[in-house]
Amino acid sequence: MKFLSEKRALEKLHKLKSEYRETITDSYEHRAKSCLTCDTKGACCLDAHFVNVHITRLEAAAIRKTLSNLPGDRQAEAYRRVEDSIEKYDLTDEGDTFARTYACPLFEAGTGCLVHHEGKPLPCISHACYENKDDLPPDELQIGMESKVETLNRRAYGESIHWRPLPLWLRR
Ligand code: SF4
Ligand code: SF4
Repeated sequence: MKFLSEKRALEKLHKLKSEYRETITDSYEHRAKSCLTCDTKGACCLDAHFVNVHITRLEAAAIRKTLSNLPGDRQAEAYRRVEDSIEKYDLTDEGDTFARTYACPLFEAGTGCLVHHEGKPLPCISHACYENKDDLPPDELQIGMESKVETLNRRAYGESIHWRPLPLWLRR
């Protein structure tokens, strides 16, 4: 296996996710409800009974990089929400972590998803509100992308892959 610097792996991750987003947008999302006209904007990100987004170490590095471009007070506020969500929803690495749900700390009132343009987790790229189940992107698409993200993690860090709830990876 050829190893990569974290910087190079982040570039490759960004390219991979941009291509995935393009596929979802071009081939599926036009059949979903428009987020622009949604009257419950953010419900998908703040629903503490629904969100269980997991990410990898490399994706956490990408998210931190995006957050580092925000003004200091908004960064501090985002990391405060990260800590709050870990405490409030009792997020740990123990047991079935996918069974635990939380309101996403990366949702900022008035802005929306802070990593919408760069660093967005795969399930969030896949997600939209579809009326017809047959219109959803097939699971295999996301599974294939997860496998590619795992390979990039291995090439960057040379360690076994650890998918964890997003707030746990972002804890400072
Ligand atoms: S994904 Fe669904 S709930 Fe979320 S903003 Fe878009 S339309 Fe609204
Ligand atoms: S990462 Fe962004 S899109 Fe995904 S749940 Fe959090 S705020 Fe929503």
